[in-house]
Amino acid sequence: MTSPFDLTGKVALVTGGNGGIGLAIAEGLGQAGCAVAIAGRNPGKNAAALAALTAQGIRAAASIADVVEEAECRRLVGETLDRFGRLDILVNNAGTNIRKQPQDYSAAEFRLLIDINLTSTFMMATAAYPAMRDAGGGKIINIGSMTSLFGASFAAPYGASKGGVVQLTKALASAWARDGIQVNAILPGWIDTDLTRQGDGITPELRERIQARTPAGRWGQPGDLAGAAVFLASADSDFVTGTAIPVDGGYSAQG
Ligand code: NDP
Repeated sequence: MTSPFDLTGKVALVTGGNGGIGLAIAEGLGQAGCAVAIAGRNPGKNAAALAALTAQGIRAAASIADVVEEAECRRLVGETLDRFGRLDILVNNAGTNIRKQPQDYSAAEFRLLIDINLTSTFMMATAAYPAMRDAGGGKIINIGSMTSLFGASFAAPYGASKGGVVQLTKALASAWARDGIQVNAILPGWIDTDLTRQGDGITPELRERIQARTPAGRWGQPGDLAGAAVFLASADSDFVTGTAIPVDGGYSAQG
């Protein structure tokens, strides 16, 4: 019997798919049968991720792109359609953070974080929309954060961008439901990746506090996100749209 989460014949594009959460999602989608295009800025990370995907028997391709640029977003969608002939699943995962107190950010830093984390999600989704609409449907998965829900004193622009990702998700879901396109967000808890490794504001004390506050009693691993992504990419989530699903070991459930 075919798995309800079988993605054979589908094509996914994962921004920031060359490491961390994005690569784990790309692997999960690939293991479910999907061909996967990944995109990032770093050629070495792209090459290593592509090798890891193909070693698992996943049909994959990697593109160098900066999702801050609208033309690059359009190019990524175009390259995916040229290489694989279709685009069924878009995962807007590329993102970054700069951690400091609100009064210490420049406006340029604030704008950059909004551009990378939020505006890119809008530009990628609207670039993918015509192909998905013309194909009769598609799946868009946006990566939010616990800061989509909570304020963090050291992440004002990041939190503003990730709060925006959830509202953008709802608007796109409402607009495109009749086109057969479902748009949902995943809100990761604290996940052990390059973004959250020690340094840049992440102290051993903060790491311990986060672990103690997480009901599951541990940090998340990138692979923890794959199952939710496969569900939201599959036909089994066709009546699920506009949601924001925490994958956080209970972090957001605990008062
Ligand atoms: P990583 O730093 O490991 O991954 C970030 C990815 O985004 C990299 O692949 C990076 O590729 C890519 N990227 C960043 N900026 C750009 C850009 N301008 N253009 C193209 N690609 C870009 O971190 P995570 O895996 O942790 O983060 C993935 C997503 O998950 C982000 O949106 C993050 O905000 C979110 N998240 C992470 C959490 C965590 O605890 N780790 C918690 C909640 C949300 P390259 O280096 O090649 O540019």
